Amino acid sequence: MQNFVFQNGTKIIFGKDTEQFTGQEAAAYGKKILLHYGGGSIKASGLYDAIVQSLREQNAEVFELGGVQPNPRVSLVREGVAICKEQGIDLILAVGGGSVIDSAKAIAAGAKYEGDVWDFFTGKAEVSGSVPIGVVLTIPAAGSETSNGTVITNEDGWYKRAMGHQSLRPQFAILNPVLTYTLPPYQTACGITDMMAHILERYFTNEKHVELTDRLCEAALRTIINNAHTVLAEPANYDARAEIMWAGTIAHNDLLSTGRIGDWGSHDIEHEISGIYDIAHGAGLAIIFPAWMKYVYKHDVNRFAQFANRVWDVEIDLNDLEKTALKGIEKLEQFFSSIGMPVRLAEANIGAEHFEEMAKKGTERGPLGNFVKLQEADLVQIFHLAK
Ligand code: NAP
Ligand code: FE
Repeated sequence: MQNFVFQNGTKIIFGKDTEQFTGQEAAAYGKKILLHYGGGSIKASGLYDAIVQSLREQNAEVFELGGVQPNPRVSLVREGVAICKEQGIDLILAVGGGSVIDSAKAIAAGAKYEGDVWDFFTGKAEVSGSVPIGVVLTIPAAGSETSNGTVITNEDGWYKRAMGHQSLRPQFAILNPVLTYTLPPYQTACGITDMMAHILERYFTNEKHVELTDRLCEAALRTIINNAHTVLAEPANYDARAEIMWAGTIAHNDLLSTGRIGDWGSHDIEHEISGIYDIAHGAGLAIIFPAWMKYVYKHDVNRFAQFANRVWDVEIDLNDLEKTALKGIEKLEQFFSSIGMPVRLAEANIGAEHFEEMAKKGTERGPLGNFVKLQEADLVQIFHLAK
């Protein structure tokens, strides 16, 4: 097991009606609040009104920036940075999913920086501090509500890039599973896929003595798998929604990375796809993860056989571990299909025309992944496996 520092200070307020505490929580950071949200789901559900009321009860001065698109754009981030600088915003309140939270994080860092916010995503500048961030989560998926990372798309060249800093972890995150009842099945499934991918990125490690973290990963995966079909069949099943929502946070709050280095190649490869084709991140992962697995499993057949056995109850065939390993990959792929995800690029209407370009862009800052280091030519082969 490797040395590690685990520090995740986000205060989590979980359960029914918890959005009523938003104003109270925000008030601890000051009066000037930038309310940041997406394309309208929070207005349709009535959440927007509840949040504004809760903020007004605390005499907050509310500034607004809506319109965050899935795969959030740097142009809107720049607008947010300008508002923060002009108004002296005390807290950015992100009400929505990973896209809104990531956009809020980029604004928070940009507001404390003289240059252009994209500099953080190219490595030209490092974050040195951020405006505090609060979250009311409406879709369990990205885990951005407690993570230190943000992923933003630059329309100039369609680069989707990530960056992270400890100051970007939200100060508080309000998680009410009831707010997720209105999610369309496709978004629910994309979220489930993304949170599973966050666990799998951590699970496929070269570290050998990591039993507790392995077992935590397996328990989280099994919980998600056990509840996925229930939330799709019964969108208002509180207990199933609650299990999925909490799992989405646990998947990405770094507890499941303790003592090990994860892979993250599939996430980086997926960013090339959603950067160019603007598909949902979860859908891209459902396509890329099984293809990545088929490409790398021989690197550690034992680990893949363990995954098949402990997560999918595949009986271990000691005479043919490779067969066991492949069965686990097949089970994962079947599961993604069963919740309505595409598992091939063709299902998302993506052809081979940009394979070389995506492989080149994806590796221009060096090889991807840690479990196996992937070069440009490896990415092309993975795209072919995902066709
Ligand atoms: P999202 O892009 O924030 O939201 C997806 C869609 O769901 C939006 O159209 C949104 O509509 C809708 N929606 C959200 N909540 C809803 C609700 N309760 N009812 C009905 N519709 C609702 O989804 P996401 O998967 O959370 O975020 C994806 C982004 O996060 C990607 O860019 C991905 O790369 C990134 N990501 C970040 C991290 C990280 O650690 N920072 C990790 C993984 C992924 P409205 O716009 O109308 O609200
Ligand atoms: Fe993700």
